[in-house]
Amino acid sequence: MKSSINVAVIGAGIVGASIGFYLSRMGAGVTIFEKNEPASGASGHSFAWINSFNKTPRSYHEFNHNSMERWARFERLLNHDIGLKWGGNACFTTSDSDGHRLKQNIERLQSWGYPARLIEKSELADLEPGLKIPSISAAGYTWADGHVMPERVVKACINRIIETGGRILIDTYVDSIQQNSSSVYVITDKEKHEFDVAVIAAGVNSTELGGSLNLKLPQRVSPGVVIKTDPMSNLLKSLSVLQIISGEGEEHQIHIRQDKDGVVMIGMGSQEHELTDDSQSHAENLLLSASRYIPELKNTKAIPIPVGYRPMPVDDHPIIGFSQKAPNVYVALMHSGVTLAPIVGELASIEITGSGIVETLSPYRPSRFSHI
Ligand SMILES: Cc1cc2nc3c(=O)[nH]c(=O)nc-3n(C[C@H](O)[C@H](O)[C@H](O)COP(=O)(O)OP(=O)(O)OC[C@H]3O[C@@H](n4cnc5c(N)ncnc54)[C@H](O)[C@@H]3O)c2cc1C
Repeated sequence: MKSSINVAVIGAGIVGASIGFYLSRMGAGVTIFEKNEPASGASGHSFAWINSFNKTPRSYHEFNHNSMERWARFERLLNHDIGLKWGGNACFTTSDSDGHRLKQNIERLQSWGYPARLIEKSELADLEPGLKIPSISAAGYTWADGHVMPERVVKACINRIIETGGRILIDTYVDSIQQNSSSVYVITDKEKHEFDVAVIAAGVNSTELGGSLNLKLPQRVSPGVVIKTDPMSNLLKSLSVLQIISGEGEEHQIHIRQDKDGVVMIGMGSQEHELTDDSQSHAENLLLSASRYIPELKNTKAIPIPVGYRPMPVDDHPIIGFSQKAPNVYVALMHSGVTLAPIVGELASIEITGSGIVETLSPYRPSRFSHI
């Protein structure tokens, strides 16, 4: 049965856009409120690696893995080129201790049913012929990983929402949300709007917005920096992500990807590495480190991207579900929102329209913070 409810989604990042898209497919009336431009928050600063490489415990790993499997359907439903690039992630290390940890991680991933295995240097060279590979202690390959271009995903979702009668109000700041027994009110800097349900998908600003309803959505500050290049010809021929866990003299690991437009993005440290240095000199140093392994990168210049802030619940796990304090308000706040966008959009829309309660989401309920 199609839904006829009227839903406000606050935030046009990849999470809000996916929820809005799946809601509109179920017949709901969708209005997205966005204080800036779509994908101007974390989604526009993301490395956007679709993976479950380092996610624990097992239930959270499976949640991410399940979402990875849904990306192909999401792309098909959006019917648009969203820059989805499969090919897997390969990683290597020159250090014995990191090599030992990598082997343990690959064993864990295999035992949890994730496509992962150790590979030899020769196979790595076959995967990426342009790679200059040092003497390594271990290399791993997780071939179901991918990456995507979040701005394109957000745009495609919004286009589909509009086609089905929904709307997006950009440059519209939501000051607060109010609720009575049957409705919620979204108060913007311009006017007051009435809805059946409001979804808080405002990324790092969700905590402040939840505060207007006395909801506790505790986050820690998690800045992240990636750099990019101008479009280049095919540097990474098969992989969607390459990670140098430890190489020759770098203090931190490096991760590299090349999108469908040829732009190379490079990040330092793990996916959760916290960094605020978005200077030109940091960008140049990072490019120089990466060019030790992909010499072609010496022929381009480093372009810094301003620091981005990850939505990051204090226990690192998503906050998804109706609030107990404000029962018509649904929360969707998470790190790894790029990996998780398809599963969160599909499952949250089932709950928001009142079609059912999804047990898979039970570890992530907002009520786990009610004691704070
Ligand atoms: C450097 C970096 C690297 C990352 N790498 C990865 C990765 O490799 N893989 C992965 O899966 N994830 C990664 N992430 C995390 C991922 O990008 C985020 O989890 C995801 O983008 C969150 O999407 P979102 O829609 O929840 O939030 P956002 O994209 O931040 O969207 C929230 C939107 O709400 C709007 N908004 C906020 N407050 C209001 C208000 N009061 N009124 C109206 N609008 C409002 C904002 O303007 C914003 O557009 C990374 C993040 C960063 C910063």
